[in-house]
Amino acid sequence: MPPPASLKQSHDAYLESACQRLGYDGSIYELLLVASREIAVELPLRRQDGSLVVYRGYRVQHHNARGPYKGGLRFHPSIDMEESRGLACLMSLKCALLDLPFGGAKGGIDCDPSSLRERELEELVRKFVQKMHRNIGPNLDIPAPDVGSDARVMAWIQDEYSKVYGYSPAVVTGKPVATGGSKGRESATGDGVGIVVECWARQRGTSLAGKSVVIQGFGNVGSHAARALAARGMRLRALSDVRGGVLADAGEGLDLEAVLAHHRKTGSVVGAPGGRPIENHELLELACDLLVPAALGGAITEDNAGRIQARAIAEAANGPVSEDADRVLCERGIPILPDILVNAGGVTVSYFEWVQNLQQLSWELEEVQSRLRARLETAAGAVFDSAGAESCSLREAAYCIATRRLKDALLSFGF
Ligand code: NAD
Repeated sequence: MPPPASLKQSHDAYLESACQRLGYDGSIYELLLVASREIAVELPLRRQDGSLVVYRGYRVQHHNARGPYKGGLRFHPSIDMEESRGLACLMSLKCALLDLPFGGAKGGIDCDPSSLRERELEELVRKFVQKMHRNIGPNLDIPAPDVGSDARVMAWIQDEYSKVYGYSPAVVTGKPVATGGSKGRESATGDGVGIVVECWARQRGTSLAGKSVVIQGFGNVGSHAARALAARGMRLRALSDVRGGVLADAGEGLDLEAVLAHHRKTGSVVGAPGGRPIENHELLELACDLLVPAALGGAITEDNAGRIQARAIAEAANGPVSEDADRVLCERGIPILPDILVNAGGVTVSYFEWVQNLQQLSWELEEVQSRLRARLETAAGAVFDSAGAESCSLREAAYCIATRRLKDALLSFGF
């Protein structure tokens, strides 16, 4: 069997199919596919044990016709130029779908942050900014947290950049509230998962109360999605992280507060009270009303798509369902709420953070949350209406809306 489609290959296939549905010729697909700029930097680090390790930093800036480049920085050994390309293009489309005035970018450093001491990680991040500062900025490219990076990393970037350009909080989003971050940003992606899933259930005339959910990944997105879905009455059947998972003993599901306390103590959900251990691959195949992959790309491929027993999937991670698996799941009638919509709460509140920074304002949490809900409900409504009118999948509808907006902006500038 050929290897499963990579995140980039899957994304390219979704984009190509959107271009075909919209009747665009091959040159438009090419224009949308190829990034404006790709940057790679070498990052040598003398570790505290005396060894020298050479890391690589990446940034792909996809297109900025709708606004400055925007996207996360991933700190993970798997990040490379190819993955950054796929994720940067996905960001351009996500911003277009949410009608945010940004283009897309993505990048990161090919390190395992858990293997570095805090001082080493800080040095690495500051070196990345020293090499990259001419290519980022409040009106140029605005990084944000992604896998393996967090508010603390954003504060280091903000500080290093501000040494050259003066106080510049708008150079990054997802930074600590104490240095200009927005209230509600940390939980925004998970909050958004709850809002989109709720909209979808409402549109189908059902309620989430009492329905079961399985979540893969318990980092920023997975843990806040768990909270948002549990707050809507969903039962947490199983949760996992990179070390393994926990499956609820009882029908009412896991007690989230107890899992969070265990996670704070041990750094993992494995061994949390009220459940028994389960492997990640088994967790994905559990029967449930909703499966939420919230870890890395490629969790569901052609290999396991036939064994998925969930009644629906909400892609909280970027690219968790490969294109070949998408086809199998569509044939099996399992609806997929696509990443481009489901996890867009993060970049939406990043936009609010940027707006607050540029105007030197600080909004209350309630204002952030009500604006987030309004943006996501508008985008979700457009996707649901279009999928119904065009008799296509939610992903196809979302890609078509976003692709049209991006193409219109790009062509308005002429060539
Ligand atoms: P994170 O680093 O905070 O958490 C990642 C989680 O996934 C951790 O619990 C980790 O243990 C787990 N994990 C890693 N590999 C795994 C595996 N093989 N099996 C099971 N669990 C595994 O990252 P995050 O910010 O929560 O991002 C998760 C996903 O959401 C990524 O795909 C990211 O691109 C996407 N995303 C994040 C944001 C954001 O605001 N942070 C926004 C949009 C999309």
